[in-house]
Amino acid sequence: MAYETKALFRDDAYLSTAEGVVVAINERGGIVLDQTNFYATSGGQPGDIGHFERADGSAIQIAATVTGETKNEIIHIPGEGQAMPEIGEKLVLHVDWPRRYRLMRMHTACHLLSVICPFPITGAAVGEEESRVDFDLPDASFTRENVTERLMEMIRENTPVTTRWISDEELAANPGLIKSKNVRPPMDSGRIRLVVIGEDGAVDSQPCGGTHVSETQEVGEIHIGKIEKKGRENRRFRIRFGSVPLF
Ligand SMILES: [Zn+2]
Repeated sequence: MAYETKALFRDDAYLSTAEGVVVAINERGGIVLDQTNFYATSGGQPGDIGHFERADGSAIQIAATVTGETKNEIIHIPGEGQAMPEIGEKLVLHVDWPRRYRLMRMHTACHLLSVICPFPITGAAVGEEESRVDFDLPDASFTRENVTERLMEMIRENTPVTTRWISDEELAANPGLIKSKNVRPPMDSGRIRLVVIGEDGAVDSQPCGGTHVSETQEVGEIHIGKIEKKGRENRRFRIRFGSVPLF
């Protein structure tokens, strides 16, 4: 049977610590809790790592977080040789925050890039050091310099990033919200989570279940590392932290 884990990161991406109670250990040793602040791998964003603190102060290291039979079942995979908690045990959940915060900054940068390049997205992967977004983009006029400049302008404008839920019907009435070519938007019992940049989506709105920073300035200094041609009509943009290297 599939469990329903309350996904605390959906309402508060900044919850680096939370409490959860063990509801199940699956046959592969994965830990299922009643609620969690650990993001599960989905939508191009890797799941969280970190540790669970037990009542006696000892720690259970968590090496990965994934979804189970359904998107709402979140499974925490302990590192090798870790002690197992008991069913019903209460744990304090510590996300590896420096890593997650970098992923939040990178993920938000991917949304900004999709505003600068308003073309269908054919693939994306958020990483701690580098992210990539693939666009169906025949146009060769985008350069790493001009895209980096536009990205940094949007970051310096410090626009708020918020979320809201819409119904299936609202999404169907606004097909332009969907930017991914092949991926269906994340659904949660008839609701779709929208990530909104700017007041009333003045900059952007798109369905996304990931974690983002709350204002664009938090993304910090980033640049486009490379734009690669992938086939006739596909271009892969790589986003990296830091300013543009001079060489
Ligand atoms: Zn997102």
